[in-house]
Amino acid sequence: KPIKTLTEKQAAAEAATLRPQLLKWGKQYYDADAPEVEDATYDRVYARLVALETAFPAIVTADSPTQRVGGTTRGDLPKVTHEIPMLSLGDVFSIDELKEFDERLRGNVDEDFDYNCELKIDGLAISLRYENGEFVQGSTRGNGQIGEDITANLKTIDSIPQTLSRPLTIDVRGECYMPKAAFLALNERREAAGQAPFANPRNAAAGSLRQLNTQVTADRQLATFMYNIADYEPLNTRTQSGLLDELAELGFTTNPTYQVAHNMTDVAAYIAQYQDKRADLPYGIDGIVIKANPLPLQRSLGATVKVPRWAIAYKFPPEEVQTKVLDIEWTV
Ligand code: NAD
Repeated sequence: KPIKTLTEKQAAAEAATLRPQLLKWGKQYYDADAPEVEDATYDRVYARLVALETAFPAIVTADSPTQRVGGTTRGDLPKVTHEIPMLSLGDVFSIDELKEFDERLRGNVDEDFDYNCELKIDGLAISLRYENGEFVQGSTRGNGQIGEDITANLKTIDSIPQTLSRPLTIDVRGECYMPKAAFLALNERREAAGQAPFANPRNAAAGSLRQLNTQVTADRQLATFMYNIADYEPLNTRTQSGLLDELAELGFTTNPTYQVAHNMTDVAAYIAQYQDKRADLPYGIDGIVIKANPLPLQRSLGATVKVPRWAIAYKFPPEEVQTKVLDIEWTV
């Protein structure tokens, strides 16, 4: 039913049926690393809940999935408190919605600014803590405030430096993912051994990190792209694009495809370019992220309980594209 035709009572009743459904799917996805439904199905129901709650703000409940970062922590993994929370991202599904985001943001900001466009890597968020340049602790996002300590597992991943090129004390954030080829090979091995295959590379990466046997992680060929820092003060740069360059200089692997965009026409061109290239990339992406490029502006805009105000994800439409990796059909 169109939301305009609903009364607040009807909207509240519909939202009350959507929330437990989303929470149940979320539990399977975030906690068990075994989703019950396609992401597009989850996204559609989530978008409907957002639309209901936006039209009728009084119906929002504190336990709504729109008010919390999805995910919890496994009881058998040690916990880590994120002093600066790890957030989710708001998302849009069309260029028109992206333009609305841009207009809203520019309406609230006096200065002119660029966006940094990045690929949205389909993995799971990790945080890496360095003290005086030494890797000391790595964790999952968890519920955004408390994550799981997976330091030993992360130490097996080649792209994570043990020592930085400068003795900084920083928390660097990014994505851990399983390359497509590694995912296909893993599922072949699992099926040959009579084990259930992973639903997708994101779940395979999460399942490989959030477990107790370090050797299992070491065998899974995981990789990382880092793209954020909890506090930018120790860096020399003051832009998001500069941050990616500086993280690379420090020894992290960053994704080289980022582009600074001056306006939404540039952003739309970036989206079109990577929508085309998506199937041929050796790792999965589910959209692109645009971020206000000046870091002080990011800081002054801040975040809601769940998402930063200075960034948004554009999600690609679900598509069935066939390409070949290792002579095996690959579907994205
Ligand atoms: P999200 O995954 O859509 O977006 C936030 C995340 O994007 C960040 O935490 C970060 O890990 C990641 N990211 C990747 N590249 C990035 C970059 N360059 N810059 C910044 N962040 C980047 O949000 P979410 O709240 O973690 O999860 C919601 C998503 O999970 C939805 O897309 C939904 O489809 C899926 N989901 C699916 C099910 C299911 O049952 N299929 C259930 C729950 C959630």
